[in-house]
Amino acid sequence: MSVTERPAAAAGDKRPGFPVRLSPHAGVPSASKKITNASDAFKPLPLKHAVPGLQKPLPAGVGLDSQAVRTRMVEKLAKQGVRDAAVLSAMGLVERHRFVDTALANQAYEDTSLPIGLGQTISKPNVVARMLELLREGKGEQLGRVLEIGTGCGYQAAVLSHLAREVYSIERLRGLHEKARENLRHFRLANVHLLFGDGMAGFVKGAPYAAIIAAAGGEAIPPAWIDQLAVGGRLVAPMQTAGGQQALVVIDKTAQGIRQTVLEAVHFVPLKSGTN
Ligand code: SAH
Repeated sequence: MSVTERPAAAAGDKRPGFPVRLSPHAGVPSASKKITNASDAFKPLPLKHAVPGLQKPLPAGVGLDSQAVRTRMVEKLAKQGVRDAAVLSAMGLVERHRFVDTALANQAYEDTSLPIGLGQTISKPNVVARMLELLREGKGEQLGRVLEIGTGCGYQAAVLSHLAREVYSIERLRGLHEKARENLRHFRLANVHLLFGDGMAGFVKGAPYAAIIAAAGGEAIPPAWIDQLAVGGRLVAPMQTAGGQQALVVIDKTAQGIRQTVLEAVHFVPLKSGTN
């Protein structure tokens, strides 16, 4: 099964051509993108003084385009235990309402998963934040190249674009791949590369990845993902457990081998093979 790839940004942007060429310099961050310390790189959000007001309704007239709605979502995430300032900041930057149908837009900042078409869902903000926090755990800096399996509507890829140097995101449903491309056009994220194909095979041209994240869960972690993970890299994915339930699994690839940790129960859409 071949994979086709297209950058997410609009035509005319400075971005890799087709096919994406990974030059020997692909891993070198540009000066403007270089992040040495997460707290330096991300605009601090006014968390402290705003948290006590969490229960208050938004002032009348505050629309979805207002930063206030996202700040409130971020405050809630922090209250729920998300600690990573870079993750909170990235979640505060991305307008989630642009990724869901207009009819659902008013629920976009609630802690709920939402349908995105073709039977798929966008994960709730808390789950996105939790997985990204796990992905970055122990790494004070921007991630290098990241592979996302399950682009869906493109929301998580947009958040990842603020946390990683390059994001390769793969989707097996053409309809959603196209939708994500449309959704992301507005954001002009030159470091997000959308791929159409079966993510079970990973994307070997972008490997090795500093991190791999999956938004769909299978019976096991596909071996290609482990192969394509860099030594020192981390993979976070839902996976079926013995009882037929799903749990979040973290895999660390070290010089000594693979370390797998099974965490809390989750409910993701199934990881399927082939394209449609
Ligand atoms: N991160 C997404 C969540 C999408 S839901 C977002 O922010 O919207 C998970 C997605 O995984 C679905 O769109 C589903 O089609 C996709 N998927 C399932 N199996 C896949 C596979 N083998 N390769 C690529 N995508 C897959």
